[in-house]
Amino acid sequence: MKASIQPVDAFSRIGEENAFAVLARASELTSQGRDIINLGIGQPDFPTPLNIVDAGVKALRDGHHGYTPAVGIEPLREAVAHDLAIRYQSTVNSQNVMIVPGGKVTMFSAILMLGEPGADILYPDPGFPIYRSMIEFTGARPVPVPIREENGFAFSADETLSLITPSTRLLIINSPANPCGGVTPKVEFDKLVKGLEMHPQVTILSDEIYDQMIYDGQEHVSLLSYPEIRDRLILLNGWSKTYAMTGWRLGYSVWPDALFDAVRKLAVNCWSCVNAPAQYAALEAITGPQESVKGMMSAFADRRRVVVKELNNIPGVSCVTPAGAFYAFPNITDTGWKSKPLATALLEDAGVATIGGPDFGIHGEGYIRLSYANSLPNIQRAIDRISTFLAA
Ligand code: PLP
Repeated sequence: MKASIQPVDAFSRIGEENAFAVLARASELTSQGRDIINLGIGQPDFPTPLNIVDAGVKALRDGHHGYTPAVGIEPLREAVAHDLAIRYQSTVNSQNVMIVPGGKVTMFSAILMLGEPGADILYPDPGFPIYRSMIEFTGARPVPVPIREENGFAFSADETLSLITPSTRLLIINSPANPCGGVTPKVEFDKLVKGLEMHPQVTILSDEIYDQMIYDGQEHVSLLSYPEIRDRLILLNGWSKTYAMTGWRLGYSVWPDALFDAVRKLAVNCWSCVNAPAQYAALEAITGPQESVKGMMSAFADRRRVVVKELNNIPGVSCVTPAGAFYAFPNITDTGWKSKPLATALLEDAGVATIGGPDFGIHGEGYIRLSYANSLPNIQRAIDRISTFLAA
């Protein structure tokens, strides 16, 4: 008999990250001989700095081949706690630090832990697509918090607080943000934390994976620096973006006491531990020289200037200057195109991979996302192609 198997119902609700589908299509077109410029996927185009690679190789040569504790190796947990304490003037106990295989694993774990039918989870829209996907997977109700261009793509504390109800279990915050590049100012964070006093049932997941990717001398505001909410804050961060380590699969999180044992058990049940040599590479990344991070950020700053200027020269396109991360989120409404058809046409007909705004939520219509993690000549060529395509 033919097999009649299927996954449980929750899998009919799980979503995807379209950036990976665009990457696959761009690679397919390239293998057919097309010249495709990829401004789709969100990963630094730099190699991992050599001192970090060397530390990973050395760890392998030194025999770090086995399991590590599920929560991560102790020196790395301590280094993470120390690094956060210095950068955000806050006390972090290494016993609350969890080393995980990538930034996504923290959001997966947090949403799985707090989402269930009857619970509401607030998340930024436009925002990283996995938030909504995972919320729906758990059966919780996804409640989008609109991220608006007129606010410079920062979240509004008032609007966020107005959406909280007694059913709200988790609030997801992301600054600097994907896909809009918005950075929320401290006054909004202050107001949000004050307002959260009234809602003690709400856990906060602060996705700060772009914390070091911030421009114009601005300081990153970490929710870690608010002692009032530390007993219900999950901090998400990792090495992927800051140290150009997306393929190493390395992340870390800080968990409140009440939830730490749950995530430790999740690790034991699922990934056991992060691969050992990668953890030694991560240790070198945060304790070693930081010049390479500064170098990458200075290159991103140059590219940002060019992307924003050139996009604003295209008739029908307007682009807010992103304050953080490495994404531009131009408004394309006046071109007469809808976002997804435009992104598809740019890839298929103009050879430029971008992502349509609606892939990041309903509030993404009218925009496309360009990742400027590409060389300046490629960025210039890509924008010339977009301009020529729209003028045709
Ligand atoms: N959070 C945000 C906002 C992101 O943009 C990304 C990746 O693009 C992640 C988390 C996931 O990072 P990682 O590749 O380390 O899983």
